[in-house]
Amino acid sequence: MAIITKEALKNALDEAQRIILTVHVHPDGDAIGSMVAFYEALSNEGKEVTMVVDDTVPAKYSFLAQVAHIKQPSEVLDWQADMLLVLDASTFERIGKVGSLCKAPIFNIDHHISNSQFADSLYLCPEFAATGEILTYLCDSWGWPITPSMANALYMAIATDCGFFRFSNTTEQTLRMGALCVANGAQPNIVSEHVEVTTAARIEVMKEALQTIQFFKAGRVAIIALDEALMAKVGDDTDGYVDLIRNVDTVDIAILLKAVDAHTTRVSLRAKVTDVNAIANQFGGGGHVKAAGCTINANIQGAIEHLLAVIA
Ligand code: AMP
Ligand code: MN
Ligand code: MN
Repeated sequence: MAIITKEALKNALDEAQRIILTVHVHPDGDAIGSMVAFYEALSNEGKEVTMVVDDTVPAKYSFLAQVAHIKQPSEVLDWQADMLLVLDASTFERIGKVGSLCKAPIFNIDHHISNSQFADSLYLCPEFAATGEILTYLCDSWGWPITPSMANALYMAIATDCGFFRFSNTTEQTLRMGALCVANGAQPNIVSEHVEVTTAARIEVMKEALQTIQFFKAGRVAIIALDEALMAKVGDDTDGYVDLIRNVDTVDIAILLKAVDAHTTRVSLRAKVTDVNAIANQFGGGGHVKAAGCTINANIQGAIEHLLAVIA
C-alpha cells in the first residue's frame, strides 16, 4: 500500500489506457455522482472506461445521463484493465464481487477517516466532505474541463454527503467546490428535485416508521427502526429516515436500524458531538466521525442492546 500525491495519481491516470471504475455497494449520491462524473472526465482524456457496481443503482439517480452506462458485474465481458479505480469506498469488502473479478492494480480515491488502506495506491482526503469534492478539486487543479453534465453529477455527489451544505463536514472549500460546479452548469434545483423526491406511498411508510422512534440515555440517543415488514415496503432507498430524528433538540446520536433478516441489522449512525466512527468500528464498520455505519449480527432488539452497551 502506498499513500500517493495528486501528482502521482495524475501520472498513473495519464499512463493508464483501460480503466475500470467502481464504488461501494448500497451506492449513495456521492458514489454515483463521483463515478459518472469521473467516467466522463476520463473518457474526455481519451481513456477506455467501464463503470461497474455490485448492486442496483437507485432510480432517483437516473436523471444523470451517464448512469445508463453503469454495468452490473455479470455484464462486464472483459475484466482486463490497467487500473481498478475505486471511488468513495473505504474497505475491500465494500466493493463486493468487483474486487475478486478485477485483478488490475487498485487505486482508491476516498474521504473516509476509517479507510482500511486496502488499495495498492491511495489518495485519501478525510477533511473533504465528499469524494465528489475531491474530484472537483482534482479536475480544477489539473485543468480538466468540467462539462455541465459532470458539474451536475459532482454537485449531487457533494450536496448529498454534506446534507445540502448543512452538516458539520461542510467547509469553506466544500462551498467553493459546490459553487465551481454551479459556475460550470450544475443546477441545484434539478438535483434537489430528483434526489429528494418522495411519493405518497413513501410518506405512508414514514408514518409507520415514526411510530418506532424510541429515546434512550435521557433523550441523548434516538433510534428509529425499520423491521423486515417495513423494509419490504421501503425498498433500497432508506435516505431521509435518520433525518426524522437527528435534529431533535436533546439528541446527540441518531440511529437508523434496518432489518436485513432475523439475525442481521444494518445500522446508520449520525452525531452532533460523539465520535460515531469509533462506535461503528466496534462492530466492524466505519465511516466518518459524525456519520458512520455498520452491520450487527442480531435482530433489531439485539442491535439496540449491543449499541446502548457501547454508548457512554
Ligand atoms: P450510511 O449510514 O449508510 O449513510 O453511512 C454513513 C457513512 O458510514 C458512509 O460514509 C458510509 O460509507 C459508512 N458506512 C456505512 N456502513 C458501513 C460499513 N458497514 N462499513 C464501513 N463503512 C460504512
Ligand atoms: Mn458513499
Ligand atoms: Mn462519500
